[in-house]
Amino acid sequence: MNLPVKLREPANITFRGECVIPWDTFEEINSELEETYSHPRNLAAGTLRQLDANIAIERKLEYYVFDIVDGFESGNLIGNYAYVADLDMPVVEHCMVRGNLKECFSKFNPENFRLPVDGLIYRYDDTGYGKSLGATSHHPLDMLALKWQDQLYETKLTDIEWNTSKTGLINPVAIFEPVDLDGAITTRATLHNVSYIEDLELGIGDTIQIYRSNMVIPKVHANLTKSNTWMIPDKCPCCGGMVEIHNENGSKTLHCCNNGCGAKLLSRIVHFCSKNAINIEEMSEATVEFLINKGWVSNFKDIYDLKQYTGEWIRCSGFGKKSVYKLLDNIEKSKNTTLDRFIYSLSVPLIGRTASKTISKYLSGDFEDFYDKWINNYNWALLDDFGAIMNDSMNNFVRHNFLWVKELADEFTFERQKENNKNSNVDLSGKTFVITGSLNTFGNRDELKELIESFSGKVSGSVSAKTNYLINNDNLSSSSKNKKANELKVTIISEEEFLHMIK
Ligand SMILES: [Zn+2]
Repeated sequence: MNLPVKLREPANITFRGECVIPWDTFEEINSELEETYSHPRNLAAGTLRQLDANIAIERKLEYYVFDIVDGFESGNLIGNYAYVADLDMPVVEHCMVRGNLKECFSKFNPENFRLPVDGLIYRYDDTGYGKSLGATSHHPLDMLALKWQDQLYETKLTDIEWNTSKTGLINPVAIFEPVDLDGAITTRATLHNVSYIEDLELGIGDTIQIYRSNMVIPKVHANLTKSNTWMIPDKCPCCGGMVEIHNENGSKTLHCCNNGCGAKLLSRIVHFCSKNAINIEEMSEATVEFLINKGWVSNFKDIYDLKQYTGEWIRCSGFGKKSVYKLLDNIEKSKNTTLDRFIYSLSVPLIGRTASKTISKYLSGDFEDFYDKWINNYNWALLDDFGAIMNDSMNNFVRHNFLWVKELADEFTFERQKENNKNSNVDLSGKTFVITGSLNTFGNRDELKELIESFSGKVSGSVSAKTNYLINNDNLSSSSKNKKANELKVTIISEEEFLHMIK
């Protein structure tokens, strides 16, 4: 390990970093192992998984900081890294670049790095500006990753596998002779849809080129022999039901027409119960499968009628009185929900969490209002980030499912969204808050954060010149956030003072 035993000076600071094994160490270790690792990434991950500090030292695992999460902020990245280095902590290799990023990128060569790297990250030096850019639900907007061009590997296509998903869409997967993609032995890659196969003119036995897109997902790049002898399945691989081809945005896709298709049912119910959907804790996929096989669950609503089988259920192997009661209790608890969870749980094609939240926020979490609009062909495309295709998907879904959706909804109590502060004349827009220390009125920081956001305010993780208020019940505390707020003359208020502010 390259970590210091002691920091040069005491600091209350949180780093984010990564454990790696350099190429030379990797080759050295591999030469002594019977079963060698194919890439330093795998060796590093394998070493960490053993949770043994001695092995980590033996394998010469190295750690590099790439971010300070909390405890110090100089206003720029280079300054932050310098501070980390001053503490004797190892910092990720970095340098300042200006001008055209692609040009800068071409100056670097992956072969020249001591550590395994798959690309470069560009990030604004001005961290305040970087933070002000915010983030999408996937990634922060102040960073850009550039990856080196993917290497192509040749192999032979041995099969095309078709898998039915929860929406009934049947996805093709290419099966090929094993390829070593930078350390990951791979035999499968998605083929996306029917058009994709048509364009590649695939056939079993063809020589194809595979690459790892962004070093993660294996993809088929090209077909070198183009026999074009592939065949579309004439029935659903899961239920044997009829299939049909749809045309979605110019792409042909294959679908199972059977509404009772097992693949659709199992994955739809697993999705329904999942954490971000209705959230029935401890309802595993295996349990759902068991309930379906028993014939006790064939739709979402059946989950709420499971009590009648308690006697038989607790005698089934794999279950006990305790686990069944716990599960029934969790099912009961899930009846208190929110509109966005409910919408998301229905598996409406193209309607994910973000879209569900958008609708719910717009209607303040009111199910009756939502349902009324939905069955009357409301134009959802009026909402932010909602396209015409998503709108069609919503309205197409309700046309076929309006009855059971209503019946299902009757099982639930919908908690009104806290975003519903439209009627209040408090407006915190443009105000940035930081929360620290323990809270009295709020259960946790997330609750307070939600409330601030409901008044259009912003909550940030660290104090900077852009912070307007630090919410802290102990203004004598010597925490780093408090110190920083005092330095920058940020107003420190208690929870109570905050509540007064929004009254
Ligand atoms: Zn099917």
